[in-house]
Amino acid sequence: MLTPKTFAGDTVDIITTIEEMQSRSDVHRGSGKTIGLVPTMGYLHEGHLSLMAAARGKCDDLVVSIFVNPTQFGPGEDFECYPRDMDRDIALCEKAGVDAIFAPDVPGLYGENFQTQVKLTKLPGHLCGLSRPIHFDGVALVVTKLFNIVKPNLSVFGLKDFQQVAVIRQMVRDLNFDIEIIGAPIVREADGLAMSSRNAYLVAENRGAALSLQAAIRRATEAVGEGVRDAAKVIAMAREVIESHPATEIDYINICDPDTLVDVKEIDRPVLMAMAVKVGKPRLLDNAILAP
Ligand code: AMP
Repeated sequence: MLTPKTFAGDTVDIITTIEEMQSRSDVHRGSGKTIGLVPTMGYLHEGHLSLMAAARGKCDDLVVSIFVNPTQFGPGEDFECYPRDMDRDIALCEKAGVDAIFAPDVPGLYGENFQTQVKLTKLPGHLCGLSRPIHFDGVALVVTKLFNIVKPNLSVFGLKDFQQVAVIRQMVRDLNFDIEIIGAPIVREADGLAMSSRNAYLVAENRGAALSLQAAIRRATEAVGEGVRDAAKVIAMAREVIESHPATEIDYINICDPDTLVDVKEIDRPVLMAMAVKVGKPRLLDNAILAP
């Protein structure tokens, strides 16, 4: 039997190779333990910690992966300058009661002559997939690899990236991964901004503009509460709130079916309102379910 090795810290194993991660998971699963996985790109914040807390209560062995995945970044996106702070991330994981961190490097995870794709045919054709055409292929690929390497029983993803959760759930169904997928609610800063590692790019003078995403969702929720059912009208109200801040550049604001992500015209059942807005450098996401 292999004993999991401790590389750093008192309580968390830091694992960098696929072989060691798979062996460790085999040991745990062989002894009847359940494994929970929280995939991340690091630069951890309270949003990530909430996923760890959700997983912690449901598994014996909690693994967090930290990997900035190049295949989900398009040309000209921020792969090279994506914020990274491994030492801080390790400390936060230790505090959160994580058992192991899986942190491979890029050649270690993808190897040479990599040529396999994992591609969904419908869900990536909406929302973020339109301006980031290869993004969800990269996400589906890396999550497939992580599932095969960490061998979790369950995995937790944040609903801030609503489309990502939809893609993973669909992929798990389509490919028969025997893994429970849990979606965890959006964690926000005290002022309402959805937490994100990319908030590190936000300059102080654009804070008000960044908060317009939340304000737009509030406006939309109010309108639906007042009886407005026309999705185009609600979107126009949300746009007005955001566009009153000159530092914003709307990528999309859509109201759609939460399962298929296809746009709806009438808000006659719970629907997803999702948006992506550039505020200076960062492109911020937010979403909410609007229920009539
Ligand atoms: P990332 O490191 O940005 O790839 O995110 C890793 C995981 O954390 C994904 O499942 C995200 O949806 C989730 N996450 C990021 N920000 C938040 C947030 N503010 N609230 C809840 N989950 C989040």
